Amino acid sequence: MIGGGILKGMAVTAKNFVGSYFDEERLITIQYPEEKQQLPENYRNFPFLVHDGDDQHLGLRCVACQICEKECPPQCIYIVKSKDKKPDYTGKPQFYPATFDIDISVCMSCQICVEVCPFDAIKMDKVFELSRRERFDALLMRKDDLAKSNGYYHGIHPTEATEVDLRLAEAAAAKKKPAAPASSAPPAAVVAEKAASAAPAPPPPPAVT
Ligand code: SF4
Ligand code: SF4
Repeated sequence: MIGGGILKGMAVTAKNFVGSYFDEERLITIQYPEEKQQLPENYRNFPFLVHDGDDQHLGLRCVACQICEKECPPQCIYIVKSKDKKPDYTGKPQFYPATFDIDISVCMSCQICVEVCPFDAIKMDKVFELSRRERFDALLMRKDDLAKSNGYYHGIHPTEATEVDLRLAEAAAAKKKPAAPASSAPPAAVVAEKAASAAPAPPPPPAVT
């Protein structure tokens, strides 16, 4: 029937409108900004930089490898690698980003920077109330704005952050494990080859008369 879809839609609207006076579940609007909607765990907006420990400069996981900067489709990440190294939160000397900016007026929340980062240093944030009166400089998120703790990461994406912690702990444990001592016995294939070459050559076949 022509217009059947419109009538069905109006029926659903009317049902929810009348029902909302009797059943709170049917209230599908909230009084924002006084009320905030509970965002799903996988909701994402713009990236942030994860730091371990309490010091956001010392604990920054980012080593300024610039892979995310190269891979970002709209090229909205700007990194300047440090000239020197400084100890990270584990004490290992590392390069660090002297500058790390993301232009959120250009970022399209694609998460490619997160996927390509080999150090689990950049993750997606859930903050969305970022509108500004100025269009340019105010929309440039700088390193100090972007750095947030691993505890914060656990607060917004608990499942994902726990998986990352486990993965990093496993990688750290594998690095600490001493390498297995090299066996002094030669491989079986080499032994077999040597035995074959050492064996006496078979006698020649008898001459046919
Ligand atoms: S966030 Fe990751 S990929 Fe980007 S520069 Fe830092 S370590 Fe490299
Ligand atoms: S989410 Fe996408 S667009 Fe935004 S900074 Fe990362 S790679 Fe660039």
